[in-house]
Amino acid sequence: MKKIAVIGTGYVGLVSGTCFAESGNNVICCDVDDNKITQLSKGEMPIYEPGLEELVMKNTRENRLAFTTNIPQAISQADIVYIAVGTPMAVTGEADLMYVRQAAKTIGQNLNGYKIIVTKSTVPVGTGKLISAIIREQTKIPFDIVSNPEFLREGRAIEDSMNMERAVIGTASSKAFELIAELHKPFTSKIVKTTVETAELIKYAANAFLSTKISFINDIANICERVDADVTKVSEAIGLDSRIGGQFLQAGAGFGGSCFPKDTAALLHIAKDAGYDFKLIQAVMETNETQRLLMVEKLTSALGTLKGKTIAVLGLAFKPGTDDVRSSPALDIIPQLVDRGANVMAYDPVAIEEAKRRLGYKCTYTDDIYQAIEGTNACLILTDWEEVKQIDLAKVKGISRQPVIVDGRNLFEIEAMRQLGFTYLSVGRPAVH
Ligand code: NAD
Repeated sequence: MKKIAVIGTGYVGLVSGTCFAESGNNVICCDVDDNKITQLSKGEMPIYEPGLEELVMKNTRENRLAFTTNIPQAISQADIVYIAVGTPMAVTGEADLMYVRQAAKTIGQNLNGYKIIVTKSTVPVGTGKLISAIIREQTKIPFDIVSNPEFLREGRAIEDSMNMERAVIGTASSKAFELIAELHKPFTSKIVKTTVETAELIKYAANAFLSTKISFINDIANICERVDADVTKVSEAIGLDSRIGGQFLQAGAGFGGSCFPKDTAALLHIAKDAGYDFKLIQAVMETNETQRLLMVEKLTSALGTLKGKTIAVLGLAFKPGTDDVRSSPALDIIPQLVDRGANVMAYDPVAIEEAKRRLGYKCTYTDDIYQAIEGTNACLILTDWEEVKQIDLAKVKGISRQPVIVDGRNLFEIEAMRQLGFTYLSVGRPAVH
């Protein structure tokens, strides 16, 4: 049993703290956000993540998991301190380390004995050294630094954390390595042992590679549309090659979320700072921007104009299974629809509150999918929620003003849509008029 303090109780800190508790450790999750900690202390989840609530309740009941805003106390009682604060994108594109610096300073001020300081946040190469320097400014007490990046996927975060495909542990200290490796034993047998710098870069390389796969297949999809080919067959066929693999080859409205857009931008900066012009990742980002715009163009081509038209946007979350709308295609696309004179009825089963916070009242929101569609001129599908996949298309045709669907997730069979009489524009597949 290890005593762990997790600084930052967001998607990553809350999930990993809970999983460390579930594997028998004593965990205290802390945050500067009073509301979040109050909610958690009452057993209310500040985020939507399947299976999280049950696990939090179980571990708090069994006294292995607690929540606090008293970060100094949490640090002083712990043997291992995890940093899991946000590293958002600065206006210049690089990672903003403001919260990491704050956390490091608080750790330095409250170090009362040897501790292992572990970075779980996604941070640029060199941040381990920066954290170390900030702590040293505050204290002479010894500590070790570890980089242990997080690879969980929102929507499957618990599953991913309990069964990790690998854990990356970067540190110069063999003592710290042994302890953090032991902590990960219940979750995985595959541990990559490396330096802090390599571990920091691994996280960016992983996200950049996945983003590249998505932009690649979107570019192929755009070629498919011009040469009457079908991208779903291209994906299926190339994905069957074990060297390529079938995942992350679904053409669509582009990638979003709190990680891929900011991490690709941050990697571009890391490369630039190191004197390297990373052209490939620049192109990946540009393709992604264009891909979102294409959804608006498809709607305009189907309807003639967007002025005065009502559009049902189906899906606000950047992917199913989460209420996270950070950098989601919907949050980018809805303002563009509104700017072009459209009224937007936005549907999502769980992400409405988050979207309202970030988007304001640019549109009308509903968690009733048919209410969203009723009387609209077109549907725009942006998240592949089960609720959208299972929609009754005959009913949609009956209640919408015009049978037009622009599908940014390629959910339906082309032939079925033709027979139902829809105008159906998807991505990288033949258009149905
Ligand atoms: P988040 O915004 O959901 O949570 C961050 C939390 O840190 C917030 O609750 C915030 O109040 C808190 N915080 C900020 N400064 C603090 C301080 N000084 N002391 C205590 N708490 C503080 O972010 P997240 O999605 O959990 O991401 C955290 C990090 O993990 C980021 O670097 C992100 O890139 C990385 N990551 C995220 C995911 C993901 O799917 N969300 C996956 C892998 C890695």
